Amino acid sequence: MSESDIRYGNYGGQFVPEALMPELLRLNDAFQACKTDPAFQAEFHRLLNDYAGRPSLLYYAKRMTEDIGGAKIYLKREDLNHTGAHKINNVIGQALLAKQLGKTRLIAETGAGQHGVATATIAALFGMECVVYMGKEDTDRQRLNVFRMALLGAKVVAVTDGQGLLKDAVNAALADWAQHAADTFYVIGSAVGPAPYPAMVHEFQSVISTEARAQILEAEGRLPDAIVACCGGGSNAIGSFAAFLDDPDVMLYGAEAAGEGIDSGKTAATLELGSDGIFHGMASKFLQDKDGQIAKVYSISAGLDYPGIGPEHAALQASGRGHYVGITDEEAVQAFEYIAKEEGIIAAIESSHAVAYTRKLAATMRPDQIIICTLSGRGDKDVAQVADYRGVALND
Ligand SMILES: *Cc1c(COP(=O)(O)O)cnc(C)c1O
Repeated sequence: MSESDIRYGNYGGQFVPEALMPELLRLNDAFQACKTDPAFQAEFHRLLNDYAGRPSLLYYAKRMTEDIGGAKIYLKREDLNHTGAHKINNVIGQALLAKQLGKTRLIAETGAGQHGVATATIAALFGMECVVYMGKEDTDRQRLNVFRMALLGAKVVAVTDGQGLLKDAVNAALADWAQHAADTFYVIGSAVGPAPYPAMVHEFQSVISTEARAQILEAEGRLPDAIVACCGGGSNAIGSFAAFLDDPDVMLYGAEAAGEGIDSGKTAATLELGSDGIFHGMASKFLQDKDGQIAKVYSISAGLDYPGIGPEHAALQASGRGHYVGITDEEAVQAFEYIAKEEGIIAAIESSHAVAYTRKLAATMRPDQIIICTLSGRGDKDVAQVADYRGVALND
C-alpha cells in the first residue's frame, strides 16, 4: 500500500491500472503540499472569492421556518456561485493542482454535463485544453450542456462503448489518462475515484462548512443541531459536513435519490440499497445487479443518479456518524415547488432532495434547534423538466 493510498475504514483505496500509480503518487504529494502552501492557498481563495463569488450566503429561511413550526432553518447558498452550483469550488482547486504539476490538458467525465461544464469553465479561464467524456445516451439527452461546453472551448467525446452511460464515460476517461498522463490532469467532479481524489474533493469543498460554521456562530452564537445536504457522489455533502465532523452533537444527514421509490427498481439510493464493490478506482458501496455489474440507476435528478457513493460517506454510514435517507422524485418536486413559493428561491432538483428532508426533519425538532440545509445549486436548468413532470407543455 503506497502512502497515497488513503482509506476510510473498509472503503477508498486505489484500484487503477499500474501505469497510473506514479501519477497518483505525484498528485498526492502535490495535494498534501498545497494544504499548507501559502501561495497555493492565496490563489485558491482569490479565485473562490473574485471569480466564483464566495463566500456564499448563510440565509435564515424565516418563512419556511414559521410555516413548518419546528427547528430554525438556515440555507447555505451554493446556488449563488458562478456557474450556479458548488462544483466550481472543487474544479478550481484541482485545476490549480494541474497547473502546479505542469499539465496543460484537463479531462473529465460527466453524466448530466454539470461537472463537464464546470471543468470547461476553468479550462477556459486557465487557457487549458479540455476534453470531456460523456456517454452517447447522455449527449443525446443533454444537448444544451454539450453545446455549453463547446461554447467554452471544450471538446465533448460521445462514448459509445458499453451502454453509452456514465460508467462507460468513466472508463474512457481513465483510459485517456493512462495514455496521456504526461500532459493530462483528470478532474473528478465528486468525492469519488481513486485516492487521493475523495480527500482532495473533501478538502476543496470544505470551504462550504468552514464558512457555514463561522456564519452560524456569528448569527446564533452556537453550532447547529443538524446539517442536511443532498448526496450524489457526495461532494457537496462532504463539503457541508467537513467542519462539523468532530462535533458529535451536530447530526449529519445526506439525502440520496430514491427515484420512484426504494423498492421500485428505479432508484439511485446507493447507501440504502447498495453493496460493497469496486468501481471508478475505489472500494465503496454501489448499486449492482445480481451478476455484480454496476446497475443502471434512475432519479429525476441528473446530478444524483451516480451508481456509487464517495468512500468517506460509506464509512460515515458504517460508523453511524452520518445518516442517509432516500427522497423520491415526487418529494423532491414538491420541495422544489415549496421553496420557490415559500422563499422565492428556485433550487436545483438535486438540492430539492435536501430541502425535502429538511422539511421532514424540522417538523420533528424544537424551535430552539437549528438546521443548516445546503442548497447545492440553482434550479433554472430544471424548470423545463419539472413542468414536464407536472404535465405542463412549454412548447407547442
Ligand atoms: C452535481 C450536483 C450534485 C451532486 O453531486 P455531489 O457530488 O453529490 O454534490 C448536487 N447538486 C448539484 C446542484 C449538482 O450540480
